[in-house]
Amino acid sequence: MKIITDERCTGYSHPGHPERPERIIKSLEKLRAQTELPISWGRPRSPEETSILRAHSADLVARLSQPEDFDSDTPYYPALADYARASVGAALEALNAARAGENTFSLMRPPGHHATRNRAMGFCYLNNIAIAVLEALATGVKRVAVFDFDVHHGNGTEAILLNQPGAAFFSIHQFPCYPGTGTRNQGNNCYNYPVLPQTLRGEYRHVLASAVEHLQAFKPALVAVSAGFDAYARDPLAQGSMEAEDFHWLGQSFRSLGVPVFSLLEGGYSPDLPDLILAYLKGLEGK
Ligand SMILES: [Zn+2]
Repeated sequence: MKIITDERCTGYSHPGHPERPERIIKSLEKLRAQTELPISWGRPRSPEETSILRAHSADLVARLSQPEDFDSDTPYYPALADYARASVGAALEALNAARAGENTFSLMRPPGHHATRNRAMGFCYLNNIAIAVLEALATGVKRVAVFDFDVHHGNGTEAILLNQPGAAFFSIHQFPCYPGTGTRNQGNNCYNYPVLPQTLRGEYRHVLASAVEHLQAFKPALVAVSAGFDAYARDPLAQGSMEAEDFHWLGQSFRSLGVPVFSLLEGGYSPDLPDLILAYLKGLEGK
């Protein structure tokens, strides 16, 4: 398992904000201390501007450097543009490693799946996964599927990849919940699986399994995963029911697809996040 990370991503924080540095610090501690899963470590690359501008407007990119909050969830931080770019760079490095045959996970912040072409929102500034998918398509991969199991709908990824030839988007998420979208399929390539709050674990897993089947039917050459761990039963931000074992099973399910897979950390706000990530990575590695 290859993990792309840069501890400098823990360098910003906002009092009381759930998307906090400890998410990465504690996960790194856990992954470094464990011995069950051999890990090689990689660092983010510097993303090209052209890669970012496939997914975002120049206005949004410029706005990252203006010292003004986007909204209360999505504040401005000093050097925000550098943090956002590093997270994109980790996604692109994860893509690269996956294409070279390595199972890869980007352990970075900020997350990205709520960011639209023109708008930062929901703790997200640049849409790491959409940028990576568009990069893959622009550099010769014919069919790329995104699987988004974060408990919140990946509205930004959907908006950017809508009707994009060669791309398909599958999102399993709680509804009603932030950001309030994802109730039905969109365009010719975006598939949404809304799940009610407090849905029982077996039912939640059943929905995930059918989404994996639909993804498989798309016959992707590459799978990009928005790995959010906030559908966890004890996550403070939603009313999901998943346990560590279910994230392990998801990892196994992606492994069994038999195509390169790379995963990017999105949400996950429980103190148990490090255990959930490890369970998922073990599933991906067949352990
Ligand atoms: Zn989330």
